[in-house]
Amino acid sequence: MEVLKRNEKWYDWRWQLKHQITTLDKVEEVLGTWFSENKKKKLKDTLEKFPMAITPYYLSLVDAEDIENDPIFKQAFPNEKELIISKCDMVDPLSEEKDSPVDGITHRYPDRVLFHISNTCAMYCRHCTRKRKVGDKECIPSRDEIQKGIDYIKQTPVIRDVLLSGGDPFLLNDEYIDWILSEIAAIPHVEVIRIGTRIPVVLPFRITDSLIDVLEKYDNLWINTHFNHPSEITKDSAIALRKLAKAGIPLGNQSVLLSGVNDCPRIMKKLVQKLVKNRVRPYYIYQCDLSEGLEHFRTCIGKGIEIMESLRGHTSGFAIPTFVVDAPGGGGKIPVMPNYIISWSANKVVLRNYEGVITTYKEPDNYRQTMCELDCNDCNLNLKLEDKDKTRVIGIEKLLADYDDTITLNPSDLLR
Ligand SMILES: *Cc1c(COP(=O)(O)O)cnc(C)c1O
Repeated sequence: MEVLKRNEKWYDWRWQLKHQITTLDKVEEVLGTWFSENKKKKLKDTLEKFPMAITPYYLSLVDAEDIENDPIFKQAFPNEKELIISKCDMVDPLSEEKDSPVDGITHRYPDRVLFHISNTCAMYCRHCTRKRKVGDKECIPSRDEIQKGIDYIKQTPVIRDVLLSGGDPFLLNDEYIDWILSEIAAIPHVEVIRIGTRIPVVLPFRITDSLIDVLEKYDNLWINTHFNHPSEITKDSAIALRKLAKAGIPLGNQSVLLSGVNDCPRIMKKLVQKLVKNRVRPYYIYQCDLSEGLEHFRTCIGKGIEIMESLRGHTSGFAIPTFVVDAPGGGGKIPVMPNYIISWSANKVVLRNYEGVITTYKEPDNYRQTMCELDCNDCNLNLKLEDKDKTRVIGIEKLLADYDDTITLNPSDLLR
């Protein structure tokens, strides 16, 4: 277990990266487990298609006595089932490349973009939704490449929220991160910047004081991390999270629902409670995407609904994330949850709570809503917008709007 000795270098994130575990032999040596020749052959074939990289820190969390059932091991170590491509699997299930106006940017929602600023990760999650790219182009994009993304954001005034992702943005060095953040923060129409990272989970030592000095300068910065199992929240991650929280950065967490890892209401409840204890607000639980090689990780959607049922009412409201299915083909995130409305009449709504109590909400007899004609000057509600709001509404919002006469939304290939 040489590589797992906690000497002073252990806490040096660059040392951890330099000692990433990328071969089966090394895993065998470190964990003291041996695979049969036959098994090794299959695993090697898997690694040819989807490479492996694990930080010594993350591997040290594995229970070597029970690797078959270990949630850390399952997220880090290849499984020959990754080579099974099922009929519905897609290379790019979320159509991130189709919705990309310039390299590195996915612009899907009206007011926000996803900006990939790193092509590499400290640990290659076996369940990565961008599995097609893992280990492909192990590099940090050049300033010129990143500049093109920044220019797109500059030239697109509707963007008010920029989500930095990758790969992992925290694999860039401090100066590079500072440069990107400063460029984006200087764009007048950008109101919020978010960073999506798995660093607090797989390499918490990367959250150094000098990184904090950089992040602290940006007062509209949010960070979302990616804990999937309560045993990932170690003392070391807790230290990293505390530093980020102390720097005033709001923290969120996105989990992926994974078969054999966290598809259990009790595990999920423990996870969200441990997160809020560390000042991390659970944000999303994702249904596992239809990426190639993920079939063995996928659960049915009902499992996610069951988990949501086990949370609402049973624990603190702010510990409850939204369960979402990221629509295959690029439709964005669709929230899914148990049904709480049981029935409805002209003036009553029948609801049920988490205990199964059925209750009635009597609606007001004289509710008169303010009709909206999009002219805030003509309205008695107090929103002082400078001009008439010209935003064009779309989708279901449009069907509901007073000022729009649209009655139906029709598929573009409708025959009649
Ligand atoms: C998830 C995602 C976002 C952010 O969505 P939020 O619901 O605002 O967190 C933005 N763009 C893309 C392409 C995404 O996949």
